[in-house]
Amino acid sequence: MDLRQDLGGTVDGLMPELKAILGQLVSIPSIAFPDYPKANVRRAHDLVAEELRKSGVGEIRVLDLPGTSPVIYGRIPAPEGAPTALLYGHYDVQPSGDESLWHTPPFTPTEQDGAIYGRGAADCKANVVAHIGALRASGGKPPVGVTVVIEGQEEYGSVFDDYPAEHPELFQADALLICDAGNIRAGQPTLVTALRGVADVFVEVRTLAAPVHSGQW
Ligand SMILES: [Zn+2]
Repeated sequence: MDLRQDLGGTVDGLMPELKAILGQLVSIPSIAFPDYPKANVRRAHDLVAEELRKSGVGEIRVLDLPGTSPVIYGRIPAPEGAPTALLYGHYDVQPSGDESLWHTPPFTPTEQDGAIYGRGAADCKANVVAHIGALRASGGKPPVGVTVVIEGQEEYGSVFDDYPAEHPELFQADALLICDAGNIRAGQPTLVTALRGVADVFVEVRTLAAPVHSGQW
């Protein structure tokens, strides 16, 4: 399949099924915080894994790491000589908080003015569905190798903070798409190419034993 041929039309044609998947995902309260039912996290996991499977990701397995929700890890091997892209996202969400403050019920996906509202619709379930849509638009045979990593405990924190750095071979890729960020404005897809890092600095200062007057000392 030549991806350049009417890719926009292909994506338009996929939109109803992609929106349906997003709706199903948003209706699952996949909150990975303690004291919330783990079964919902599992349901979201199973749905994402199944939809990826239907999108051409043949090799799917679970990284069942201690202290975190199951991580979906899938691969489509690169065609000869082609680079590999890693697609990241997460299927868990923040708790809804006080539901009376919501304009629409948090776990009932509600379409208003062309946008779908619900907990996790933007962060990060639509991004997961974007991966699924991209794979489907390529007929499940993208022109590059694809590694898919969808974790299930991003919002609460997990061993995934350290695991990729300790097991880099699983995450080796020519480009990483960390699709867990918003757009600069609604309707305008946004690609962020760099973020500031974080640096911890300890500054040690030695002072006089007591304050002294600036004019006299
Ligand atoms: Zn997120």
